[in-house]
Amino acid sequence: MSDVLVLNRSFYAVQVTSWQRALTLVYLNHASVVDQEYRTYSFEDWRELSAMIHENPAGYVTTPQFKIAMPEVIALKLYDRLPATDVKFTRRNLYEHYHYHCCYCGRKFTTTELNLDHVTPRSRGGRTSWDNIVTSCIPCNLKKADKTPAEAGMKLLIAPTKPHWRSNLAMMMRSPVKVRTSWQRFVDNAYWNSELEKE
Ligand SMILES: [Zn+2]
Repeated sequence: MSDVLVLNRSFYAVQVTSWQRALTLVYLNHASVVDQEYRTYSFEDWRELSAMIHENPAGYVTTPQFKIAMPEVIALKLYDRLPATDVKFTRRNLYEHYHYHCCYCGRKFTTTELNLDHVTPRSRGGRTSWDNIVTSCIPCNLKKADKTPAEAGMKLLIAPTKPHWRSNLAMMMRSPVKVRTSWQRFVDNAYWNSELEKE
């Protein structure tokens, strides 16, 4: 089934969610359905409109009581925070940031040949953050194990850095989420990769 683009109150795209969650938010009156003309609808309005739409590109949800058109975009009513301009701390973004290179040997690998490595091991208080996580190939990862680079006799060829937020757009566009044409006008600020948990 389809994903739904979520806007905040200022109509900034803030995330992508499942249609189930989207409809729940609308049903609970926490969000409105947004159409292509930027009109907003409550659950009841949308349900009534659904009965009149003969072709909805995203399809319909049918319950014993009614048939409702799948929304493609919703706008939150309560949430008003602007999206963070930071690049999300995700595995994908880390791989992208280091261009699929192992930061220890400097060679390029495929996704399946790479791992994430805590430069200062977690057991020594190393944090899970941009400044302590690098991409590493499996052999380098095994060699380093639970040691600091110095202890393992290894040197980082690529130092850990935090990406500039501008690269976010490029990363977003490589996201596996399929960008619906109906989202185009809203997506400039969308960040739909889920964030890794920071410590
Ligand atoms: Zn390596």
